[in-house]
Amino acid sequence: MAEPVRIVILGGLGEIGRNCLAIEQGEGDRRSILVIDCGIMFPSADLHGIDLVLPDFTYLRENAPLISALVATHGHEDHVGGIQFLLRDEHGIGDRRDTPLPVYGSRLTLGLARNRIEEAGLLGRVDFVPTNDGDRVEIGPFEVEFVPVTHSVPHAHAIVVRTDQGVILHSGDYKLDLTPVDDRRCDLARLGEIARSEGIRLLLADSTNAEEPGFAPSETSVGSVLRQVFAEHEGRRIITASFASHLHRIQQIADAAIASGRKVATLGLSMRKNVRLGRDLGVISIPDSSLIDVEDIDQYPPGEICVISTGSQGEPMSALALLARGENRFVKLGEADTVVL
Ligand SMILES: [Zn+2]
Repeated sequence: MAEPVRIVILGGLGEIGRNCLAIEQGEGDRRSILVIDCGIMFPSADLHGIDLVLPDFTYLRENAPLISALVATHGHEDHVGGIQFLLRDEHGIGDRRDTPLPVYGSRLTLGLARNRIEEAGLLGRVDFVPTNDGDRVEIGPFEVEFVPVTHSVPHAHAIVVRTDQGVILHSGDYKLDLTPVDDRRCDLARLGEIARSEGIRLLLADSTNAEEPGFAPSETSVGSVLRQVFAEHEGRRIITASFASHLHRIQQIADAAIASGRKVATLGLSMRKNVRLGRDLGVISIPDSSLIDVEDIDQYPPGEICVISTGSQGEPMSALALLARGENRFVKLGEADTVVL
């Protein structure tokens, strides 16, 4: 007889942030748990004094020995930013600290998650298992397949979980971009093939603004606008802001900057780390000769500089917010600068 399968949602349902879901199969001591994503939520304005909101880890803490692995769909904070809290002693599953938690995902997804876990000093409690597009891996009683999807961070996946009760498809976050910067498209054909051959018993799908009518323009459409803005502001220093994980946006800013004879400097710790990670993994390409340290920008004429900063959402402690208040150590904004959000 087929084993029962339970879906336990620990955060992210009907809210933006702290995405965390558990799939449990089996009964008694044969139970096995697969966790998909473990993110944080940034507090709303009424949560005074709260820095971050975490998923409810109670169920995972109580069943810590049964967790086979964590699978990460993509590298956004609201999907992987909570892993270091899950691994901790006081709130998380620290009592299985001697058994590292396997964490599956694309190399970029794992690299983005790794930064936070490393900062927390908990790298010893995880075992990173990088996966490629289309990989099918056995995790506990499940078979898990990684289907490429397009999103505002590269190398995102939808997750197909084969269970005793049939196929569960977890879409992850996605934007159906037919002309992505890296030509890596959402593999809709594969999803259709699974639906036709095996059938999808349960679809878990969610995408911010999916209820809004119309289409979002392709990410590649940003490139021509950037080139135009750079051409219109020749001779002026340009400071741009982007999500630090939006490596394709960063690539397009860098391309526009280099094409207009500028050097590129990153501002903000996460921007510097992510650009380094993206270059190391070959996700983005910025030649050494075009990348300079932000401390050195004053050695160049303003028209030869483009700064790429964090803080596109107006986060109070980000590099751009400090810039606006005149409190940034490396860059002082003046009338001769152009800021592109
Ligand atoms: Zn996302």
